[in-house]
Amino acid sequence: CSSADDSKTVVIGLAADSGCGKSTFMRRLTSVFGGAAEPPKGGNPDSNTLISDMTTVICLDDYHSLDRTGRKVKGVTALDPRANDFDLMYEQVKALKNGVAVDKPIYNHVTGLLDPPELIKPPKILVIEGLHPMFDSRVRELLDFSIYLDISNEVKFAWKIQRDMAERGHSLESIKASIEARKPDFDAYIDPQKQYADAVIEVLPTQLIPDDNEGKVLRVKLIMKEEVKYFSPVYLFDEGSTISWIPCGRKLTCSYPGIKFAYCPDTYFDNEVSVLEMDGQFDRLDELIYIESHLSNISTKFYGEVTQQMLKHSDFPGSNNGTGLFQTIIGLKIRDLYEQIITSKPGASLEARKA
Ligand code: ADP
Repeated sequence: CSSADDSKTVVIGLAADSGCGKSTFMRRLTSVFGGAAEPPKGGNPDSNTLISDMTTVICLDDYHSLDRTGRKVKGVTALDPRANDFDLMYEQVKALKNGVAVDKPIYNHVTGLLDPPELIKPPKILVIEGLHPMFDSRVRELLDFSIYLDISNEVKFAWKIQRDMAERGHSLESIKASIEARKPDFDAYIDPQKQYADAVIEVLPTQLIPDDNEGKVLRVKLIMKEEVKYFSPVYLFDEGSTISWIPCGRKLTCSYPGIKFAYCPDTYFDNEVSVLEMDGQFDRLDELIYIESHLSNISTKFYGEVTQQMLKHSDFPGSNNGTGLFQTIIGLKIRDLYEQIITSKPGASLEARKA
């Protein structure tokens, strides 16, 4: 017989446009909880759900109310709220949060049709990832923590070219056209959700190379809201100060264009935030320990855990820059948040705050 606290489902929202690194982030997150997430056993092979001991990740595309043909007929994109069933999304996320299993629909990305539903049991941690986790205020209220991956247009373009041109044989023109076609709905319905996020990972072109337009070297910001229950922002050297740090030299190998960190308090959509920024990329991932030792409030369970996680998944995209580093840190912060919620000891952060 488990106590009431053990049966709590903690709900995390992850929003981003498609092709912006959500599944990579999810692989990093589930790894922090110790276990690769797999599709449900014996179910629909086209299921979008990933299940591990601790986490269940559901893809919000499953709440499309219009299938591919329906969207075509009505002339709406998948980004349009009219193509999504927010009532059902709300009912089912609420049920799971309250410990009740649901029959969740499956949107089949291969056929573009809605398949028969699959049974989802309430997990310890439910992640809802997709285009609209923070769009509907009722769903938003259910989230214990929310993240928005904000990939700038330049970088989105560079990644799309990499994937769609190199791997799928699309033309440069068709990639440009597809990004342009999505933009109005993206700006109207997806982008505004970032104002509600507890943490935003913003990915921009580097400022270390003048007029860089390759999108290979990245400047990544981790924007963390203050005063979020069970979450205390990461900081560099001294909490609340404004810091600029170039760690290259004796302890860190950096080739051109180097690495630059910054940390400062700021405001973001009228909210007080702390911003940690990394521009550039690592040459040697094992030397990340040097950076890690200068960061505080990272919610590690042992010295070097961030570096260990990064080394473990060095083959994932973004492992040599701030995208991988900040995704890993947010994974650790979510583990900390989860552990605080189930023990219901607000403020009892795993890593004692440095005096
Ligand atoms: P999503 O689940 O949002 O569609 P994925 O995690 O599958 O996104 O990533 C889509 C593609 O974007 C990857 O194949 C890769 O080319 C690129 N990508 C994602 N994250 C990064 C990153 N941090 N750095 C470089 N490229 C990335």
